[in-house]
Amino acid sequence: MGGTFDPVHHGHLVAASEVAHRFDLDEVIFVPTGEPWQKSGKQVSPAEDRYLMTVIATASNPRFSVSRADIDRGKLTYTVDTLRDLKRQHPDAELYFITGADALSNILTWQDWAELFELAKFVGVSRPGYELNTDHLKQHLRNSPPDAVTVIEIPALAISSSECRRRAAEGRPVWYLVPDGVVQYISKRHLYVPVGNGKVGRA
Ligand code: ATP
Ligand code: MG
Repeated sequence: MGGTFDPVHHGHLVAASEVAHRFDLDEVIFVPTGEPWQKSGKQVSPAEDRYLMTVIATASNPRFSVSRADIDRGKLTYTVDTLRDLKRQHPDAELYFITGADALSNILTWQDWAELFELAKFVGVSRPGYELNTDHLKQHLRNSPPDAVTVIEIPALAISSSECRRRAAEGRPVWYLVPDGVVQYISKRHLYVPVGNGKVGRA
């Protein structure tokens, strides 16, 4: 499961847990993106902070792990590179890529999208506020096996990292939206606190 995970929240964890159960997966590997978008003006927290929050959030689940593949590649993150790396590291594994309805809807704009479906099966999960419709995608995948993309309904958690960041910036709670250890990490590292409010910004 790829993501910015800025911060990782319970929507991500429920999605991973549901897909692991339904597809009887041995492992779910969370892959935080590298530090890609600063240049295009979008502020993303340092990769190490996002990586550590993901480690904290997943530590208690023996089937969850975190990969540094995208962070250590050190360039723009493309899912096709993530999947190529994972395939190299796990040559005998059958790979599944877990994605929310929002990300799934623009997958045809991703780099080398056709190759994505050769490297992994895609599982799209429902997400409040987004339509889980793959008709358009299925048309493009006419010649792929029927299980190239599967969509599943999961418990609806209307949580987003953007909203968590907004809350933290405004001093509103993120308790119970993200795991306890992540709440504490955000506070310890003063993540999402606007610079200039008297607190120490991102180090
Ligand atoms: P942001 O608001 O910064 O975009 P996000 O909450 O969308 O953050 P991402 O790191 O962008 O989190 O998402 C990683 C993956 O998790 C994406 O495939 C996304 O669709 C999925 N996802 C995120 N939140 C949910 C949720 N509440 N329910 C289901 N899927 C989710
Ligand atoms: Mg997102």
